[in-house]
Amino acid sequence: MTDLVIPAHLLPADGRFGCGPSRVRQGQVDALVAASRTLLGTSHRQAPVRSLVGSVRRGLAELLGAPEGWEVVLGNGGSTAFWDAAAFGLIERRSQHCAYGEFGAKFAKAAGAPWLSAPDVRTAPAGAAVGPEPVDGVDVYAWPHNETSTGVAAPVRRVAAEGALTVVDATSAAGGIAFDAAEADVYYFAPQKNLGSDGGLWFALCSPAALERVARIAASDRFIPEFLSLQAAVDNSRLEQTLNTPALSTLVLLDAQLRWMLEQGGLAWAAERTRTSSALLYDWAEATPWAQPFVTAPEDRSPVVVTIDFDGVDAAGVAAALRANGIVDTEPYRKLGRNQLRIGTFASVDPDDVASLIACIEHVVERTA
Ligand SMILES: *Cc1c(COP(=O)(O)O)cnc(C)c1O
Repeated sequence: MTDLVIPAHLLPADGRFGCGPSRVRQGQVDALVAASRTLLGTSHRQAPVRSLVGSVRRGLAELLGAPEGWEVVLGNGGSTAFWDAAAFGLIERRSQHCAYGEFGAKFAKAAGAPWLSAPDVRTAPAGAAVGPEPVDGVDVYAWPHNETSTGVAAPVRRVAAEGALTVVDATSAAGGIAFDAAEADVYYFAPQKNLGSDGGLWFALCSPAALERVARIAASDRFIPEFLSLQAAVDNSRLEQTLNTPALSTLVLLDAQLRWMLEQGGLAWAAERTRTSSALLYDWAEATPWAQPFVTAPEDRSPVVVTIDFDGVDAAGVAAALRANGIVDTEPYRKLGRNQLRIGTFASVDPDDVASLIACIEHVVERTA
């Protein structure tokens, strides 16, 4: 199947459809080249890099519609580090996790730390969603805005539980799905998915209640390693810096992406674009006898990560043929083990490229099935 040559006129202009890392636009790379003499290779404690951090924090607050008093906090280690930081510095006694895929389950596992009560975990099978449920004694309610392993999106809606925090993993959703920032206390993410940057950092839009919780736990007698201290991250973020050295190129790529998204029309524009791209795929799959959306409930279907099951067609073979023609990263999440393609329809992806991708999939299947 990998010998098959897809005619050039069918190919998308850009063949990167991964769900993270995801396509980096040329404009971002141009910004990196422009920064190569002024920023790269210079001290992160001096004004040029600190003003870049400030620009990223302001850009994120604007893109995500941060209410008055909310703050953008950042630190090193990506979303995976944030889970451990939350176990040390955000969960007071017990958390509840909605786990409907790999990433929601990973945060639940991190919250199994011995100084906390065992988390309350609500699970749904892959391809479905489950929502939070108020429970006495739970002080953090957590779920992914977009479960990247399955392509399930869930609403961001504050849990009605006095004193508890709503904590949303937005790693693949941030900047690609519209939401009301006032509905979450912590909306955290890494920038290598919809925001089209590189990995290594985490960002969290934090409400005053979340900042107060972080300060209170930091002042308690709980042991917190400095690298995973959210209070240290808050203190450093307010100075436009990180505890230790950040990846400067990740910040430059992110800043360029934020400026591009804001110029195009911000979150409303990006959300409309991802909706358009994903709808092309969902509508096509529903109309195709050998394909169907993996997520059965239309309201659970993600606009940024599209999973399509194949029936009677070998999806791995199709992905391999696409890869041999420069169309990459359409393979499913490795641990899901389904006969499917997973396609990132993030804001950087032009809907025209999605239409071309569909034509290429049909071309491959017609010639090999
Ligand atoms: C990719 C991803 C993560 C992990 O991000 P890292 O920066 O690699 O730690 C966490 N949650 C979700 C929803 C993701 O898509």
